[in-house]
Amino acid sequence: MSSLKLTGVRKSYGSVEVIKGVDLEIRSKEFVVFVGPSGCGKSTLLRMIAGLEHITAGELEIGGKRMNDVDPSKRGIAMVFQSYALYPHMSVRENMGFALRFAGVAKAQIARQVEEAARILALEPLLERIPKELSGGQRQRVAIGRAIVRNPEVFLFDEPLSNLDAELRVHMRIEIARLHKELKTTIVYVTHDQVEAMTLADTIVVLRDGLIEQVGRPLELYDDPANVFVAGFIGSPKMNLMEATVTAAGNGAVTLELTHQGKTQVSVPVGGSVPAVGQKVTLGVRPEHFALEGSGGTEMTVNVDVVEHLGATSYIYANTKSGEQIIIERQESRQEDDRDAITVSIDPTKAFLFDGKGQRIR
Ligand code: ADP
Ligand code: MG
Repeated sequence: MSSLKLTGVRKSYGSVEVIKGVDLEIRSKEFVVFVGPSGCGKSTLLRMIAGLEHITAGELEIGGKRMNDVDPSKRGIAMVFQSYALYPHMSVRENMGFALRFAGVAKAQIARQVEEAARILALEPLLERIPKELSGGQRQRVAIGRAIVRNPEVFLFDEPLSNLDAELRVHMRIEIARLHKELKTTIVYVTHDQVEAMTLADTIVVLRDGLIEQVGRPLELYDDPANVFVAGFIGSPKMNLMEATVTAAGNGAVTLELTHQGKTQVSVPVGGSVPAVGQKVTLGVRPEHFALEGSGGTEMTVNVDVVEHLGATSYIYANTKSGEQIIIERQESRQEDDRDAITVSIDPTKAFLFDGKGQRIR
């Protein structure tokens, strides 16, 4: 069953259009993450689903019913924001029960729902505290608890972890994943952090400039990006992108010459439409897909800039002859820090190709 359906959804502020036509279906119980750079329209889209922003054009359905003009409180949703804005003078218990009390729910039932939410979020020992007696992570859990007690069909989260420090963010990320497992409700979660998107989502929606770039499961987007934007946005460190020119084409492969790399030729397999000789393309290679010299593939010598050894993984920041910075990932490496130049090889079967407009050539 589809839980949420957006059809041709648009949003303008005055003459400026910020959401430019979004079509999306979200299945019941699905954890969907909207990800994209700051300003791309994630919050606006979420707030239109919540009913906090008017939908300029298009249709919004929740649970099969048109919701464009329905009051936020009647949409069966609950929203958790980045700034959790708890009532400072109320206890955790009162903060969590507030919306229910406001809605006129009976005292005994409020108590039951608050206690159930507190159990799920491990907040039971903290119920009588006030917000200033809590840590940042605990406050964020109370904000989530406030949403849980309302027993919504759909949870909306807008960058709920942005205000937390790195360690707490990882911790809360795991708690939110666990929460989804336990509650089994639809979640729409907004973040600019692609790691959060990769780790939490069943489905990721990549947004850019008010439009959807690609929708897919995390590893689908990683392994099979539709365009250079998604390729560069999903994955950390980023995919390496290098300019190249097609020098030969046909028989299910194109041969490229990397710009300013002398005679470095890469032959990349392509399935569909083969680009023409002379066409400028972009070659994408993930950091983990560079191999050491002598392992076959196309070899390329690069100048080492900085090496970071993290223990299990090392990152080599290097420059190609054309001055493009590339990042090479190595596992269990204990060397490379004392060499100025290294030769690496590209496995063409793992390389990505993009045309001049940034669309994937498959
Ligand atoms: P994101 O959450 O992806 O960072 P937003 O949805 O907040 O982006 O904003 C999308 C675009 O809409 C931005 O360019 C922002 O400046 C603009 N915008 C958001 N709210 C308003 C508003 N109330 N009035 C005018 N422009 C707005
Ligand atoms: Mg936002």
